[in-house]
Amino acid sequence: MVMIIDVEMIKASLMTNNLDSLNIKMNRKGFGLKDQIKDELKFHYHSPIIEEIKLDGYTKTFGNLTIHLAREFGFCYGVDRAVELAYETKKRFPDKRIFLTTEIIHNPLVNFNLQKMGVYFLSGPYQNASLEDVTPKDVVIVPAFGTTISLLEQLVAKKCELVDTICASVIVVWKRVEKYAHENFTVVVHGKYFHEETQATTSRVSVFPNGKYLVVFNEEEAQFVCDYMMQGGSKEEFYKKFSNGISHNFNPDTDLQKIGLANQTTMLSSESLHIAHMFREVITKKYGEESLKDRFRSFDTICNATQERQDAIIEFKTKKPDLIVVIGGYNSSNTNHLCEIASQIAPTYHIDRAECILSQNEIRHKPFGKKEEMITKNWMKSESLSIGITAGASTPNQVMGQTLERIISFRNE
Ligand code: SF4
Repeated sequence: MVMIIDVEMIKASLMTNNLDSLNIKMNRKGFGLKDQIKDELKFHYHSPIIEEIKLDGYTKTFGNLTIHLAREFGFCYGVDRAVELAYETKKRFPDKRIFLTTEIIHNPLVNFNLQKMGVYFLSGPYQNASLEDVTPKDVVIVPAFGTTISLLEQLVAKKCELVDTICASVIVVWKRVEKYAHENFTVVVHGKYFHEETQATTSRVSVFPNGKYLVVFNEEEAQFVCDYMMQGGSKEEFYKKFSNGISHNFNPDTDLQKIGLANQTTMLSSESLHIAHMFREVITKKYGEESLKDRFRSFDTICNATQERQDAIIEFKTKKPDLIVVIGGYNSSNTNHLCEIASQIAPTYHIDRAECILSQNEIRHKPFGKKEEMITKNWMKSESLSIGITAGASTPNQVMGQTLERIISFRNE
């Protein structure tokens, strides 16, 4: 169950496009200790009130308050597996030091619990150790969104044991971009250059000698690239705009002639589809329809869990809640996109823990598109009120349940 990765094998696998020989995805079954960790997981993440509302058809009324749960919310299959595997690893190696390359998922409670269990973090907001601390006797867990090839190289050099919790949906993106790079297509990723998954994705393109990539964050950036493709422009401006999301030696004059599109698994799916359409149009206009097969590739790599959670928010339109509460880490990509959709339906409050519900009158939250939290007063009207509630793919039900209990108790006051 423990994976030892050989760097040369990784590189050889990528270069020959013989992806099945890439061992990174093989350690998927855990250590067979699920029974031993299930009570701990239930204690940390389960919520009776959430289960109760689900059984009641996802809507329940408490006095003059009606709660609508989204049909899909909370832990996705990838997060479930990553968290389980981290707990199993701890159980399997009670005497070894366990490290995580960074947050296992983007949720404060889950990372806090792991830290409390003695797991060390090599980077990110919970960092309490560094790579120099890792020895061959240690175990390092790679989180759900993967890690870069360069970090893997360093870990392999450490000869430590590696546990792979990478989500299968992330591997789909990697396979796709490796294929593009293998066929000499420039990879355009709709994603966030600073997100661990996208960094891991682009690192896999960089392994190819001629691998080129560009990360576009949104439609505005995609339009900038499309305009450059059609009319040219200032290279300096191009480099400045994409300085953090562009491969080494990228030349916008020559590297935008054959394009393969992919997206970070947790982006807004409608935007990803539109961006793919924009690039398709520009290739068609510039080189003609018949050139598409040689110059354009596109594959929607939004994961099912993200799609289902986004669709479930859209269903709130029929429930017409007075407001929507979205729960999830502030750095969670999928949660932020849930907020983006929700805010088009009703006033939306993004919180990352139950304690953000300060009182009947005050809520601490992060407005969509902003980095800082703020406090909003009079967020709940005192008369009859309906609230839509959802949670990002890395949010435990327990946090959702605690949030709900706080809202109900403040209403009762
Ligand atoms: S959000 Fe999607 S890609 Fe990310 S861990 Fe969950 S299932 Fe996997």
